[in-house]
Amino acid sequence: MGAGHSIRFRVSGARVMTAIPQPLPGEQSGCHSAPVLRERGQREVFCGLTGIVWLHRKIQDAFFLVVGSRTCAHLIQSAAGVMIFAEPRFATAIIEERDLAGLADANEELDRVVARLLERRPDIKVLFLVGSCPSEVIKLDLSRAAERLSQRYLPQVRVLNYSGSGIETTFTQGEDACLASLVPELPSAAEPSLMVVGTLADVVEDQFRRMFQAMGIGAVGFLPPRNSAALPPVGPNTRYILAQPFLGDTARALESRGAIRIPALFPLGAEGTSQWLQAAATALGVDPTLFERVVGPACARARKSVARYRPALEGRRIFFFPDSQLEPPLARFLSRELGMQPVEVGTPFLHREHLAPELALLPAETRLSEGQDVERQLDRCHAADPDLVVCGLGLANPLEAEGLATKWSIELVFSPIQGFEQAGDLAELFHRPLERRARLEV
Ligand code: SF4
Repeated sequence: MGAGHSIRFRVSGARVMTAIPQPLPGEQSGCHSAPVLRERGQREVFCGLTGIVWLHRKIQDAFFLVVGSRTCAHLIQSAAGVMIFAEPRFATAIIEERDLAGLADANEELDRVVARLLERRPDIKVLFLVGSCPSEVIKLDLSRAAERLSQRYLPQVRVLNYSGSGIETTFTQGEDACLASLVPELPSAAEPSLMVVGTLADVVEDQFRRMFQAMGIGAVGFLPPRNSAALPPVGPNTRYILAQPFLGDTARALESRGAIRIPALFPLGAEGTSQWLQAAATALGVDPTLFERVVGPACARARKSVARYRPALEGRRIFFFPDSQLEPPLARFLSRELGMQPVEVGTPFLHREHLAPELALLPAETRLSEGQDVERQLDRCHAADPDLVVCGLGLANPLEAEGLATKWSIELVFSPIQGFEQAGDLAELFHRPLERRARLEV
């Protein structure tokens, strides 16, 4: 069994801020109270299983066992196919199409699959049973299965569960569901601490950790951690800051354990990263002079590396289809630091509270849309005739064939884009498709 290899799951009998920047002088007051176009129609998004691709790289002693169909196995295999460095820490237990009657057998078979897996892989310390559309349709109760298996395998292995089903989740919500399932496992603590919430590439996490340490903030935890032994403690004196905008359930779970959110921009671009760090520093009582000494030089370098792309991107019009929920902070970065004009910013879900600082900085004329009716949105996109479209893989090729430049939104989730050192690379990701199209047109 290896990365993306399927376990045959023979189920006999079953079928299956303090420091939030303000709009610049002369700017209108942003989009925070602007009407949102809400659409509920056909969607073109990946399901929450996709999150396994980056989560299994991050939590190095975890294994993700999808309980699903061959379609689920194919999705994970092809999504992970772009990650050539991936370690083999996920698999699919395929529910066979027999009959719908024998759930007892399904549980027994799942127990057998897990026993075989854990016997062969003593390195696994956390096992996630990941629900899918098929497991939900046959009402296989994975939370009970996780409880049963935890009792059997603790303290060596913790068995948790969450749903990555496309019935319930879109693309990045799989991470939210996974992290929310970890929150009850976090140790309790009374001491003051800072928790950074949301998967960051290791290189980005290291940069932030170094900066927090240089500011004298020692007690910093990251959720998810690289290793399950390093689950960050939580309690009423924990202040948490989101590194990703799609973590509504995780935030609620942390707050139910007493943690308090630090409102901030998301750490994209020089401005976003600087304000994100500043919000955390202010909440933790860091001296402003020390903050400036630690952050100032890196921020100046980031501004310089972003500025190189401004001449090519300024005034270009960009249209976001809803995919990753990163769309509002990306649009803020592109408009504020590169002078691009966001025509429509679509997002699968708009968490107004978590995104309030971002929405306040979007140009007032930006159209915000939540959810999707893909045909109507395509009509709006054609009518707007933008210079660049950010969308899922399924829409990119047809739009390219029509002559539009596109950027795959999934690339923005798989790439390290947060933080000062990555700000120039983030700008470059948007510059590249425009440059490619300009070359094609020569
Ligand atoms: S979980 Fe649902 S949407 Fe996702 S691959 Fe499986 S069947 Fe398809």
